Amino acid sequence: MSTENISFASLNLAPEILKALDEFGYTIPTPIQAQAIPIVLQGRDLMAGAQTGTGKTAAFALPMLQKLMPLASTSASPARHPIRALILVPTRELAIQVEASVKVYAKHSALRSLVVYGGVDIKTQTPHLMKGVEILVATPGRLLDHVEQRTLQLGQVQMLILDEADRMLDMGFMPDLKRILALLPKQRQNLMFSATFSNEIKKLSEEFLTEPVLVEVARSNATNENVTQKVYHVAKDDKHALLAHILNETETKQVIVFTKTKLTASRLARQLVREGISADAIHGDKSQSERIQALDAFKQGKINALIATDVAARGLDIDQLPMVINYEIPSAPEDYVHRIGRTGRAGALGIAISLVSPEEEKYLKEIEKLIKREITKETANLPVNNSRSRTSTEHKPREKTYDRAASSTRPSPAKKSNDPWFDKPYEPTGTDTVKPQSNQLYKTSKPKREVAALLGGLPRKG
Ligand code: AMP
Repeated sequence: MSTENISFASLNLAPEILKALDEFGYTIPTPIQAQAIPIVLQGRDLMAGAQTGTGKTAAFALPMLQKLMPLASTSASPARHPIRALILVPTRELAIQVEASVKVYAKHSALRSLVVYGGVDIKTQTPHLMKGVEILVATPGRLLDHVEQRTLQLGQVQMLILDEADRMLDMGFMPDLKRILALLPKQRQNLMFSATFSNEIKKLSEEFLTEPVLVEVARSNATNENVTQKVYHVAKDDKHALLAHILNETETKQVIVFTKTKLTASRLARQLVREGISADAIHGDKSQSERIQALDAFKQGKINALIATDVAARGLDIDQLPMVINYEIPSAPEDYVHRIGRTGRAGALGIAISLVSPEEEKYLKEIEKLIKREITKETANLPVNNSRSRTSTEHKPREKTYDRAASSTRPSPAKKSNDPWFDKPYEPTGTDTVKPQSNQLYKTSKPKREVAALLGGLPRKG
């Protein structure tokens, strides 16, 4: 179905919603929005295959608001504001972001929304719930806590939305989901969004959806075409040096670096900070306020590199994130799809770099099998012993290597580097970009070339 000429107005959305969209700067619906909105407005159940970054939040939030609009009330009485739509999400961060979006879209209506999630004192959420809200965004565990404390009623829920359903299953929320579903009225509309379509997701959709319409904006398990993917083969022990190198050389202000474990995330953040790179870690062991603080600092550009584990990074909505780096590639290939979904959002271009050691080769193969394409391989020709010696202060300002890569045409499918210089073993070079006396390695020529190639390739002369 072609969705190119569709406007928000042609989707039969209320003027209040159109006004909010206009103020927020949305002009045309994304493909998932153009396809999902009419189906939801018809009252059908929906199974949507859409990655983060496709505009999936508005794809369910806009028709949801449209359907609830006639029930909106300006009365102060809580009884006039029962929970009518329940949005379940796997993580606190996603919960916060989804509810923030709902608030934006609902700002010209009398509909109320609230978010509840774990890790914070439940008592702080109760008074807000008691006032009555039509739209509740929740993580499953905390929702059940409130059910137990009888601080909310689910008897009037007419719409259930499961966002990032695949991740909910990965995180073991199935029993909680079943308990929640049992508390909801049978007569209701169900929407399910998932980035990937595993057999478990298909089973879940059969169980929870009634004759759903299937909508898919990208091939299932495919990765976003706007993202240039690259792999650097590098020894495990050289990864840190290569990462520092990339971070120092790129002019990209916001990079998410993924690690597999909380320990690596913390250690890496500390190491990078010692080397003068502004970095912080975000993982499950950090308190909610620490995570929000780190995320805010990142969003405001106070931190350039956010080191994150998969779980912690889930649901982070950072507009126009230009680059993600997989410091360690995930052993579950679906996580790769999720990770690189952080960049290249809503049509923007992005770069996803993976540092792959020989030990991780098998995981890379699994990823390529899942995404059905080979990722461009490059060899990282790092100078020996350079990890500590090369800091940003030792380099002159560089060419805008990333910008060029990002503004070039769409990412090319897998191809080997055809730059003979790049494929040669590293030849120590020295020039004005470094302090020659401090390190013998940098004495000859061509200091920037390796890095430019590293971050997207230099244009070939002639
Ligand atoms: P999501 O996939 O819902 O996380 O959305 C990804 C990003 O796209 C968010 O930053 C949204 O604000 C943005 N976005 C969603 N829909 C549109 C649209 N129709 N036009 C422009 N940006 C959008």
